[in-house]
Amino acid sequence: MINSDILINNKTPFYYYDIDLLNRTLEYIQSEANKYNFNIHYAIKANSNTKILKHISSFGFGADCVSANEIEQSIQCGFNPNSIVYAGVGKADWEIELAINNNIQCFNCESIPEIEIINEIALKKNKKVDIAIRINPNIDAKTHKYITTGIEDSKFGINFNEIDAVLETIKKLKNLNLIGLHFHIGSQISDMNIFKDLCIRINEIHKIINDKGILLKSINVGGGLGVDYDNPENNIPDFKSYFSIFNQYLNKVKGQSIHFELGRSIVANCGTLISKVLYIKESANKKFAILDAGMNDLLRPALYNAKHKILNLSSKDKLEKYDIVGPVCESSDSFGKDIMINKASRNNYIAIKSTGAYGESMASRYNLRNLTNVVFSDVNHI
Ligand SMILES: *Cc1c(COP(=O)(O)O)cnc(C)c1O
Repeated sequence: MINSDILINNKTPFYYYDIDLLNRTLEYIQSEANKYNFNIHYAIKANSNTKILKHISSFGFGADCVSANEIEQSIQCGFNPNSIVYAGVGKADWEIELAINNNIQCFNCESIPEIEIINEIALKKNKKVDIAIRINPNIDAKTHKYITTGIEDSKFGINFNEIDAVLETIKKLKNLNLIGLHFHIGSQISDMNIFKDLCIRINEIHKIINDKGILLKSINVGGGLGVDYDNPENNIPDFKSYFSIFNQYLNKVKGQSIHFELGRSIVANCGTLISKVLYIKESANKKFAILDAGMNDLLRPALYNAKHKILNLSSKDKLEKYDIVGPVCESSDSFGKDIMINKASRNNYIAIKSTGAYGESMASRYNLRNLTNVVFSDVNHI
């Protein structure tokens, strides 16, 4: 729980991170993944706060990056360059160069032109670099359309019907080693059967590639495990079932390593956005609780229509219905409509739960507002 000293001593809005919960989550992942020798790469984009990154790297996990700056930040925060995988449909030349200079583990490639440019830059540097092909398995993650990434007309990955052309291209390029396959079908996936379907599809694709005489050193199944936003008290996702599905359904090949790229499920629950009520505004049919936090602090509700549990930490009065909104000059700057919270008044503290993933990392200075403050449970900030 967040104690009242923390509330009183810090300027709102701020992200509050429960480091004890983060550590317990990491210990649990480590013990479950170790059962099967699975390799975990933390998806930096979910939360790239340096202190959070240092905690995660201290557990020996690798990193999953989608930009050169993420690669630099993860190395600065203790991740081993040799455990960094790098995805993204639009890697710029300088980013590819930076990744090669740092000897990262693997480029996850998303198109033929990208593969050709990586080879060209590697050739100039007289290096040979390891790549994996990101294949679009055409599996619907059944999540929000903005975070569904593995269906045929998404911009991500290479469609399987192009595989022959891709393999032909790679064969001709002397500065690349094809070491594996990469998949990432989307985020906030709550139905475990989708991961089972993914395994079955990976096995099929893997076999077709093996039959062409190509042996692969690694299979990267991506991330996407969802969290229970409605019940933030269920605060550690079911990594046990998640990993056991991959262990059960993914064909095992001797000497081949299996990789995961988890973001949300690692950090979502340890973060809470704390804000204060500025005003209660009443119109004919509605009551608005206007917060000092806005979409620049937490974009997910405006961007994906995401729902976070919202609590009034300062009131035990009866529940009332509010539209809970921010101060930003956009109608989409709303955290929820018709939300029941304890009767609210000016200066009440409002907690928006499970905001450790894609919260602080998406914050901006829109409307020239301040970047959100950050407070850690294990440090006394004044
Ligand atoms: C965003 C992303 C992830 C992490 O997804 P989560 O849903 O946060 O686990 C993993 N891999 C790639 C390639 C991504 O783009």
